[in-house]
Amino acid sequence: MTENRRLFYFGGGHADGGSSMKATLGGKGAGLAEMTRIGIPVPPGFTIATAESVLFGATGEVPSSLLYEVDDAMDRIGELFGKSFGDVADPLLVSVRSGARASMPGMMDTILNVGLTDETIVGLIEKTGDERFAYDSYRRFIQMFGDVVLGVDHFYFEEELYAVKATAGVKNDSDLTAEDLKTLIARYKKAIADRSDITFPNDPREQLIQAIRAVFLSWNNDRAAHYRELEGIPHEWGTAVNVQAMVFGNMGDDSATGVAFTRNPSTGERERYGEFLANAQGEDVVAGIRTPQPLSGVGGSLPSLEETMPAAYAELLDIEDRLEAHYGDMQDIEFTVQQRNVWILQTRTGKRSAAAAVRIAVEMANEGLITKREALLRVRPEQVEELLHPRLDPDAPRDVIAKGLAASPGAATGEIVLTARAAEQARDEGRPCILVRLETTPDDIRGMSAAQGVLTARGGITSHAAVVARQMGKCCVAGCNAVLPDIEAGTVRIGSHDFRVGDQLTLDGSAGEVIRGTVPTVDAELSEAFRELMGWADVHRKIGVRTNADRGADSTLARSFGAEGIGLVRTEHMFFEGKRIQAVREMIVSDTPAERKLALAKLRPFQQSDFEEILEVMDGCPVTIRLLDPPLHEFLPDANDDITELAEAMGRSEASVRGLVSRLHESNPMLGHRGCRLAISHPEIYEMQARAIFDATLARRAAGGNPQPQIMIPLVSAARELEVIRGRIEAVAAEYGEHEAALLEIPIGTMIELPRACARAGAIAQHADFISFGTNDLTQTVFGFSRDDTANFLPAYLSGGVLREDPFSVLDIEGVGTFIKMACERARATKPDISIGLCGEHGGEPKSVAWLQRGVVDYVSCSPFRVPIARLAAAQAALLEE
Ligand code: PEP
Ligand code: MG
Repeated sequence: MTENRRLFYFGGGHADGGSSMKATLGGKGAGLAEMTRIGIPVPPGFTIATAESVLFGATGEVPSSLLYEVDDAMDRIGELFGKSFGDVADPLLVSVRSGARASMPGMMDTILNVGLTDETIVGLIEKTGDERFAYDSYRRFIQMFGDVVLGVDHFYFEEELYAVKATAGVKNDSDLTAEDLKTLIARYKKAIADRSDITFPNDPREQLIQAIRAVFLSWNNDRAAHYRELEGIPHEWGTAVNVQAMVFGNMGDDSATGVAFTRNPSTGERERYGEFLANAQGEDVVAGIRTPQPLSGVGGSLPSLEETMPAAYAELLDIEDRLEAHYGDMQDIEFTVQQRNVWILQTRTGKRSAAAAVRIAVEMANEGLITKREALLRVRPEQVEELLHPRLDPDAPRDVIAKGLAASPGAATGEIVLTARAAEQARDEGRPCILVRLETTPDDIRGMSAAQGVLTARGGITSHAAVVARQMGKCCVAGCNAVLPDIEAGTVRIGSHDFRVGDQLTLDGSAGEVIRGTVPTVDAELSEAFRELMGWADVHRKIGVRTNADRGADSTLARSFGAEGIGLVRTEHMFFEGKRIQAVREMIVSDTPAERKLALAKLRPFQQSDFEEILEVMDGCPVTIRLLDPPLHEFLPDANDDITELAEAMGRSEASVRGLVSRLHESNPMLGHRGCRLAISHPEIYEMQARAIFDATLARRAAGGNPQPQIMIPLVSAARELEVIRGRIEAVAAEYGEHEAALLEIPIGTMIELPRACARAGAIAQHADFISFGTNDLTQTVFGFSRDDTANFLPAYLSGGVLREDPFSVLDIEGVGTFIKMACERARATKPDISIGLCGEHGGEPKSVAWLQRGVVDYVSCSPFRVPIARLAAAQAALLEE
């Protein structure tokens, strides 16, 4: 009757429990039992059930009946292991460890080498032939025991150690001789006698009882209790106590200790991977004093385990295969060979790189070890992003001098440039560069496309710089307050460091780090396994995934990543390139419709050819083209040169242009003359864009293509805005005579990005063929946080725990999500089949996608590099729901 049992054996080919008994045996105990059950050689031992520590918590006593059982158990382990506890010639030593049901790393205590006394140490010396090792083990044991069991602060032991090292004239612990260690042991014992009522027990049984008691007690230490509160682990679960025979890898040349991975954790390749040290203890491997030897291979510079201990090697390989097959995942295994006998101390799911995660998942599914469903759930969507961008060599040192927002992932190293022009020049001369700006303006688009990375002092993760960088796949650190560029002087101060133009700087856009000097990068590569996994994801996901792209190149890239169309073409971005910006400025600054029409006429051919290109790349797929929505300040010229140039082009005086510009100045441009408001006041802008779309569509059809454009009106708050603008677009279609009917079939919809639009979604839907949530603006307006100004206060919100996540990156389901749901309900009440999408930055964020795919939207749209993330996240969420 397991309910009444208190002690559970493992080892010697038999175990009383297994993985299913975590509640009773704790995680570690269940794991040891499970390994034993499947025939893995685990040093024998027993687990005291978790319930005992709870009882102990109530009574403060270890019942003597339990202690009798422990005595019996020690005899049994001794028999299994061929040693006996307290034997002077060949002593059995044990470890005593805690092990709760949930992992509580480092919260409770562990004591190794229990059973070492002034007498039994003789046997240990005899067996290992290493006096120094034996005394070092003993002094560590006394220190651990003194601290954990007897409550003597480890500080006192450090003091003694320091004194003995000083006397011996050595710097490192490892330089102490056996004689020094003997002296240290005497001093440790005295330190205990001076400070504790209990003397250090020189009796193995007494040591064991006290160690068990100490582990029970540690369940209730402050640290552990606090951790449980944080993690929501019930206090009444208790901890198990695992008592296990110690094995030693330093018992001669037929002993060793090492680590084996069942697959290569950095590439995922199915190969033997790992290292070991002959005649050594685990600590030697960690200390890194000796160079570890390879497990496999013949004739290498260092002898392998395969060469030196072929039988042990063969056994290890067999064990690896069994463990991997049993747990169905790549294992990270700690082993010790003690005089030819292989012992497994621990196995756990191995940590791995993103590339390895994908490869291992796919190959294991193809090998039939796991299902495709399991494979899909094994790869974290965030990891996928790592695969698509170059990243910093993880092994290279980095001197991080400042942190900003991780605005666009990837890594870049290059020389500092402070202007777009300098970036272009550096590119033309073949020098990689990092564009450093206070904030970005449309002019900087050219610079951003020329630079390897972008660093800005201001702006949040939905700021212009961040959005554009993500779309281009450039790495970007934004809102880094520590950055102070001085263009005139050609310098930039970053924190307490001064740089000049041309100095080397490195960005880690995934971590938001600014790093001094150069750091080598590792290129991205898309493997076959990756494509296969993505294909499986597509079978399971329930929502569509489109991309946000404004150019042919971005669209091509996004299609290769699996985008099923474009959910957002930001037409203003098309205006940033080259000379176009000048015409845009003329259009904005002009104060008569005639002047504006002139400027628009210059833009129309650009627009049309861009649309044609995108429609061609996305032939047959929906392409949602949003009509102009620029925060005006992004376009207004401010440099003197720009004003002069603009005045010349418009045939006006500089003073009058300056006057027009200052009249257009807004206090809060993110909430100003933007979006459809621009079209209400200046209808000719959207009319020109509608013509460009219609012409591009007709041209693509004439060329035999199947263009699927959709026209989207931004920043609508009232149904009437949409009604009026829709009417004007339809009037433009009427100019096309025989094509009118066909052009009127192009869907016209709107973005929902204001709280009022959510409230009025029912009325808005009457005039919309589709709606798409612009959650960047919706987050801005629901929170009342300016998108561009969050860098000043959001870090404090996050570090202070006021907000758990940046709502501009992870959708705020409780708040913004409530508005989205309301809008969906109201829009669907008007038009049950209305297509609903989302094209804010949240469309590529896994947690947001998981929520959105629960019947909220029909598709998400995100920057090209996030398309695979959205595909995987949507599939995983759907699988978890099943
Ligand atoms: C949005 O507001 O979420 C959106 C997609 O539009 P933009 O970021 O261009 O304002
Ligand atoms: Mg918007």
